[in-house]
Amino acid sequence: MGMCSHYKRRCKIRAPCCGDIFNCRHCHNEAKNSLETNPLDRHDIPRHEIEKVICSLCGTEQDAQQYCINCGVCMGKYYCAKCKFFDDDITKNQYHCDECGICRTGGKDNFFHCKTCGCCYSKEMKDKHRCVERAMHHNCPICFEFIFDTMKDITVLRCGHTIHLECLKEMEKHYRYTCPVCSKSLWDMSKLWSKIDQEIASTPMPAMYQNKMVSK
Ligand SMILES: [Zn+2]
Ligand SMILES: [Zn+2]
Ligand SMILES: [Zn+2]
Ligand SMILES: [Zn+2]
Ligand SMILES: [Zn+2]
Ligand SMILES: [Zn+2]
Ligand SMILES: [Zn+2]
Ligand SMILES: [Zn+2]
Repeated sequence: MGMCSHYKRRCKIRAPCCGDIFNCRHCHNEAKNSLETNPLDRHDIPRHEIEKVICSLCGTEQDAQQYCINCGVCMGKYYCAKCKFFDDDITKNQYHCDECGICRTGGKDNFFHCKTCGCCYSKEMKDKHRCVERAMHHNCPICFEFIFDTMKDITVLRCGHTIHLECLKEMEKHYRYTCPVCSKSLWDMSKLWSKIDQEIASTPMPAMYQNKMVSK
């Protein structure tokens, strides 16, 4: 079975860049950017150039498609022909956003694509968020991972800037309550102080600023 910590599927991919075989693009990127890899050879997979897959059941290499041409097995219950992306776990409600150019999770009905921010946001945020030009097309200000196609949860701050949810929580632990990009306060400070007055040990994240967005 083509299994890794990232996806359940019945095929492996042939990386178009280096020609090596991996369970998925994240497995490729982890291996090719690890400390064991010569810095000059480190690279990310050009995800939209993947063409060949190898059936995990019969080992047949073939053009990416949902069903193996040789043994007929379904290589992924969710299959996106545009991304050449397979995933057996359809509970994630994957969908392809043409404007993002990638598959996302969470169900098409729950998201809308904001043209200014250049990303899919939860419908709850429609007309309620501050638009920032290409808000998701940058690195997380804390850990520097590229936000747009991260697999981690993302939060949109009141100022419109975006950050990993776990990185924001890390900031809170260190009593940093301002956006690391623009220094605006993360939320209404008066509410925060009253909470501290009430001797609540940990600062809860105001729900309205949480926006779960998980890229595939
Ligand atoms: Zn490669
Ligand atoms: Zn993987
Ligand atoms: Zn097969
Ligand atoms: Zn797709
Ligand atoms: Zn989108
Ligand atoms: Zn927007
Ligand atoms: Zn981060
Ligand atoms: Zn900001």
